[in-house]
Amino acid sequence: MQYDVVTIGAGHNALVASAYLAQAGYRVGVFERRPIVGGAVSTQEIVPGYQFDLGGSAHILIRLTPIVEELQLERFGLTYLDLDPLFFAPFPDDEAVFIYRDVDRTVDHLESLFPGQGRAYRRFIDDWRDFSLTVRDTFLASPSPFQLGKSMAFGGSPPMDWKAAMRHITRPYGEVVSEYFSEHKLQTMLAWMAAQSGPPPTEPMTGPFVLWHPLYHEGGIARPRGGSGMLTQALKQHIEAHGGDVFVDAPVTEILMENGEAVGVRVDDEPITARATLAGTHVKESLGRLLPERYRPDFIDNLRLGNGFGAILRLALDRPVRYTAHPGTDARVGLQLICRDMQQLHSAYGSFMQKRPAEDPPIVAMTFSAVDDTLAPPGGEVLWLWAQYFPYELADGQRWEDIKGDVADTILDTFEQYAPGTRDAIVGQLFQHPEWLERELGLFRGNVMHLEMSIDQMFMLRPHLSLSDYRAHVDRLYLTGASTHPGGGIMGASGRNAARVLLKDLD
Ligand SMILES: Cc1cc2nc3c(=O)[nH]c(=O)nc-3n(C[C@H](O)[C@H](O)[C@H](O)COP(=O)(O)OP(=O)(O)OC[C@H]3O[C@@H](n4cnc5c(N)ncnc54)[C@H](O)[C@@H]3O)c2cc1C
Repeated sequence: MQYDVVTIGAGHNALVASAYLAQAGYRVGVFERRPIVGGAVSTQEIVPGYQFDLGGSAHILIRLTPIVEELQLERFGLTYLDLDPLFFAPFPDDEAVFIYRDVDRTVDHLESLFPGQGRAYRRFIDDWRDFSLTVRDTFLASPSPFQLGKSMAFGGSPPMDWKAAMRHITRPYGEVVSEYFSEHKLQTMLAWMAAQSGPPPTEPMTGPFVLWHPLYHEGGIARPRGGSGMLTQALKQHIEAHGGDVFVDAPVTEILMENGEAVGVRVDDEPITARATLAGTHVKESLGRLLPERYRPDFIDNLRLGNGFGAILRLALDRPVRYTAHPGTDARVGLQLICRDMQQLHSAYGSFMQKRPAEDPPIVAMTFSAVDDTLAPPGGEVLWLWAQYFPYELADGQRWEDIKGDVADTILDTFEQYAPGTRDAIVGQLFQHPEWLERELGLFRGNVMHLEMSIDQMFMLRPHLSLSDYRAHVDRLYLTGASTHPGGGIMGASGRNAARVLLKDLD
């Protein structure tokens, strides 16, 4: 065997798993199809002088794991910049609302704007802090019923009253926010942030998408200095420093099978053999395209991939963004939640259900050049506008190539209402629509979470009940990535969990 473990794809979960294995002394070979590592956590100079992330930008969940410390990623070039304020929301009446890292400061600010709502915010955080810590614990373990129960009853976080909590957990998050807050602006901010996981605010059982909000205060929101991709670059360097190989421009075309067991992969025409094969690719790629047909599991065609949900317009500007509601720099630090009211969110989802792009989309704007001077030339700015909802498959046989210019304009028009003059500052751009995400990043149907993040595909049901412990249905084949527990987002927990299973089996 050439390797102990051969890894398919260099998404951040695959790299995290490979780094743990390399650190434990195993010989690892990683094969990535694209010219750079990282998949949906990568950064490239798309416009000269401007560093654009190609996927995720806000590092939230990974900060709640021990991964960065356990792998000593600072030694390999990773420096996190903490963002504070965490969130800023401008409204059409020019009211500016902030959520700070510090709960007390946030409570005071909200109380000064909306008497009574600061206190409601504190109650919300107090009520759900333990729950959110328990959720974090469940993310950091393989999702068996036993493990889930153990995290809930004896996890690192204080035990909680599950009977009382169940009412909120099983509700749509759109209802949870209106139970806690009477102020519509606050309801909208929290619901719009919860909507980033995919499901709409009316979907039952989605309460947790807003109930884990206390975690933002717990772990914060951060940015790797130099761009999101510095995380995956550091992981690559870690693997290589521990004797592993990381190859780019190296597409895997097949998982090699012998006597019913995975024995490695084929890269171009070359067989690469290994004791174990770890697929960090989308499960449709790993078990659908790469496995010889007779080994493909039946469920592969029935997974719910959804119909895309967001698109992102990345802009290089020659000057900083200036919000009318709050021209100060602190507006440009954290995530800028641009959503007028719940109605805007609902109508965007309504268009999406008709397979039409939202005409007045809510936006999360990001301008991380405000905290990181390596992203843009002096005086310049990177501005990214993530907007929802945008279907992958369009009505009336329309194609994204035909409508992409108009949709990008719509997103910019919406943003201009809050920061007029932005259009005149543009020196370059990249528009990543759902078809782009599938074509370039391997995100089937433009779903940045791989599979829908709904209760039927979470925990031990992700990607399927029969293989939820990172072991595939054929021997010596393992899975990691957003298609597995705990799903999409920059977290690395799937990679860490998968590595633990592999370490046990390799021993
Ligand atoms: C535009 C966008 C914005 C986002 N924003 C955020 C955010 O702000 N915060 C957040 O937490 N999350 C965000 N996400 C989600 C998050 O980035 C992803 O869910 C997560 O990075 C997926 O990681 P993964 O480990 O599953 O691997 P992926 O990133 O899916 O990587 C899989 C890798 O496998 C490679 N591959 C595919 N097929 C083959 C093959 N045959 N051979 C070899 N290699 C192959 C691909 O090229 C890719 O590099 C965003 C995603 C996108 C796209």
